[in-house]
Amino acid sequence: MTKTVITGAQVIDGTGRDPLAQATVVVEDGRIASVKARGAVPRGATVIDGTGMTLLPGLIDTHVHFLFDGANLVQQLMTPFSLSLYEVIPRAARTLAGGVTTVRDAGYAPAGLRDAIARGLFPGPRMQVAITILSQTGGHADNTMPCGVCLNVASPELPPRVVDGVDAMRQRVREILRAGADWIKVCATGGVLSPTDSPMASQFTEAELRAAVEEGEAHGHVEVMAHAQGTRGIKNAIRAGVRSIEHGIWLDDEAIHMMIDRDVYLVPTLVAPLQVVRRAEADPSSMPEYAVRKSRQVIADHQASFARAVAAGVKVAMGTDSGVGPHGENAEELALMVAGGMTPMEAIVATTRNAATLLKLDQDLGTIAANKIADLILVSGDPLADITVLQPHANIALVMQNGTVVKNLVSERVTA
Ligand SMILES: [Zn+2]
Repeated sequence: MTKTVITGAQVIDGTGRDPLAQATVVVEDGRIASVKARGAVPRGATVIDGTGMTLLPGLIDTHVHFLFDGANLVQQLMTPFSLSLYEVIPRAARTLAGGVTTVRDAGYAPAGLRDAIARGLFPGPRMQVAITILSQTGGHADNTMPCGVCLNVASPELPPRVVDGVDAMRQRVREILRAGADWIKVCATGGVLSPTDSPMASQFTEAELRAAVEEGEAHGHVEVMAHAQGTRGIKNAIRAGVRSIEHGIWLDDEAIHMMIDRDVYLVPTLVAPLQVVRRAEADPSSMPEYAVRKSRQVIADHQASFARAVAAGVKVAMGTDSGVGPHGENAEELALMVAGGMTPMEAIVATTRNAATLLKLDQDLGTIAANKIADLILVSGDPLADITVLQPHANIALVMQNGTVVKNLVSERVTA
C-alpha cells in the first residue's frame, strides 16, 4: 500500500466551489483517501509540501489530435504511418508535463495508441479515441487534394473517412466501433484546414448524422462529437442527437437554446485558428494558404460566438485541437476562455469536472474528493488570480496520474 500526502496547498477541487486553503490531501493506492483543511498527516506516508502552490484535478483536453502536428503537406506525404505513431511519444509526454492527464483524441489515433498508454508502455494522458473523422465526399476530412492525391491512410484499424448516405454511414460507424472507438467523430460542416470547402457549409444530411448517433447508441452509448462551425450544420448535428459541438464558430440564439435544451456541450478550441496563423507567420511553407486565409476570417466570429454561448449558459468542456498548434500548450485555451467572458474558476471547471462529465469519467475524475482517482497537479501560483500561471511547464510543479507521480519539480519538498 502506498500513501502520499500533499500538504499546505490551496485546493481548487474542480466543482467551482471556493478553494480550500492549506489543505491536506491523502492519496492511497491510486485514489484520493481524504481532503481536509489542515488535516493530520498519517504515519509512513510520503509527504509533498505544497505550501504556496495550488492543487487542481489533472487537466482534461477533450479535443486533441496526437497523430497530427501542423498541416505541412510535404511532411505528411513523407511520413510512414508507423513513424507517425512513434511521433506521438514525445507529444504525449509534453502534454502530460503541461498538466493534462486525460485527453479525447478527436481523430486519426487508432485504439492501440490509447491501449499502449493505458498499459504504461510510454507516459501520456489517458485517452479516449474517435479513430476516424467521418466526412462526406468533398467534406472537411476527405483529404483529396486538388491534384487528385488523397492523403488518407486506411486499414482495419483506421476505417476510411469518406462516406455518403444513411446505409453507408451505418456500416462505417460499425467498422469504427469494431476498431475500438470511444467516440464517433463526424464533420457536420466544412472547416479551416480543408482545401476546397467553406467552414460555413453544412455537410452530411441530418438523416446521415442521425444514423451515426443511432449506431453509437445501439453499440452501447458511444456518443457522437461533431466538428460543426457553420450555423446550419451545427443545428443539423444537434437535432440528430450529437453530444458535443466542436468549434461552434457561428452559434446563433436558436442554436444556443437547442444546446441548452438538449444538454449538448460546446468544445470551443479557441486557440486553434490562432495557432494556424502563428505557424504560418513563423514559417509560411508550413501551412497551406487556404488554411491561413480561412483562419484569419473566422477568429473574430469564433470568439464572439463563444462569448454569446457562455453568457447564455451553454455547458463548455475545454478542448484545444492541439496538433493544429503544438502539443503541450493546452492551457493557453483557458486564458482565451477567460478573455471570452468566463471567470478563471469557470475555465477551470470546464477543464476538469465538465470535461470529465462529457467523457463520462466524472465518477472517477475531474474533481478532488474522496474515492476519486488521484489525477492531480500542483501549480506554482494562484490560477484564480492569474489563469496564465497554468501555461509555463515550469509552473506545473507536480503531476500525479492514477496516484503515481509522473512529473516532479519539487523533489526537495518531498519527505518519506
Ligand atoms: Zn480537430
